[in-house]
Amino acid sequence: MAVGPNGAVTWLLPKKKGRPDLAGGNGRDIKPSTRLVTGGRSDELTGGTVVNPPVWRASTHLYPDVASLDTRIKADDEQDFFYGRRGSPTQWSLQEALTEMEPGAHGTMLYPSGVAAISCALLSVLKPGDVLLMTDNAYDPSRSFADGFLKNMGVETRYFDPMMGADVAELFCKNTRAILLESPGSLTFEVCDIPGICAAAKEHKGKREIVTLLDNTWATPLFFTALEKGIDMTILAATKYVVGHSDVMMGSVTTTKRWWKRLRQTARQLGQVVSPDDAYLAARGLRTMGVRLKAQEKAALEIANWLKQQDEVAKVLHPALAECPGHEFWKRDFTGSAGLFSFTIKGSKAKAAKLIDTLQLFGIGYSWGGFESLALPVYPERDRTANPWTDENAVIRLNIGLEDVADLVADLQQGLEAARQTG
Ligand SMILES: *Cc1c(COP(=O)(O)O)cnc(C)c1O
Repeated sequence: MAVGPNGAVTWLLPKKKGRPDLAGGNGRDIKPSTRLVTGGRSDELTGGTVVNPPVWRASTHLYPDVASLDTRIKADDEQDFFYGRRGSPTQWSLQEALTEMEPGAHGTMLYPSGVAAISCALLSVLKPGDVLLMTDNAYDPSRSFADGFLKNMGVETRYFDPMMGADVAELFCKNTRAILLESPGSLTFEVCDIPGICAAAKEHKGKREIVTLLDNTWATPLFFTALEKGIDMTILAATKYVVGHSDVMMGSVTTTKRWWKRLRQTARQLGQVVSPDDAYLAARGLRTMGVRLKAQEKAALEIANWLKQQDEVAKVLHPALAECPGHEFWKRDFTGSAGLFSFTIKGSKAKAAKLIDTLQLFGIGYSWGGFESLALPVYPERDRTANPWTDENAVIRLNIGLEDVADLVADLQQGLEAARQTG
């Protein structure tokens, strides 16, 4: 083993002749599902002889002498095994793999949760006096961060209708600094015109450049390549589909060269780190994300279409169905749909609760994106401020896992039957 000029650890082993430089993307057009498998597996990161990167559990890194310690402090290189807080090859491998999934990306930072990723991304671009625009269907903790921490810091947040599209430009003022999007919204599933909004942001000639951020947890880069569509920073609650097994919390932010330094510096200053064990598990999840997402997409669509035909169901909120607001943008911009969607049932919240309580294969719990199906009552009317949620029917959100679809449908059928008897 040796430490290269940039501090990266290399193993002195013969390389396999002619092995393409997949990690570097040597000009070959490698498909996204292949990239999920090859990403972050350069010989420098894996040692060249194992499929997976070793788990480097380390805070302290040892130096051969004082001179090399001094040089490395000054250099501040990427992927420099300097001290545990800056990560080790285990974390860098996952960072690289996520960067390789996102055309146009320069780098990825990891965070201990999706919420930490959102907060740190926002903090890396906002300063007192700035105005943040946030889509009204954004994840509740994103709103809490804006209405609490950012407000105290002197940043004003204005919410807007997710269906506004490029008209969001009407809300721009000289202090508008950032737009946080979530498309589709993870409770109500409106899909917004992301390219339209990004184009409007780029055209704006205000006091400060407008940065566009997207919570892309639902689609992942597999179904929506955010930076290519104009987004500046794309955020994942990796806890969901990347990890995929409901056993690790993690977040990531991937960005372009333009914003990379700020993102990295903010994460450093706030001491954001993930453990090598968690990074290892997330990387393991990432390898199978392609097959999982495709299976979950197919199952969720079958179930959504089945639900549409049930008498008790008022509406199915699924981006791939024509009645979902913004379906046309999903069709134009996305290459697939995930396994998370909502539906509304005619009648009271008690009836919805009865349905959920009766389900046997669907667990009741937060989070989603794992291998197991979940059902949850959701209350969009509690969060909205810019465009109130007026539908009085109860909303139920489903995470479709990897169980057999026929079993899930049968379970929902008996749940609906029980709800029907509740009246
Ligand atoms: C779960 C979730 C998050 C937050 O992720 P955590 O890892 O739970 O902090 C962010 N955005 C969306 C859309 C989510 O569903």
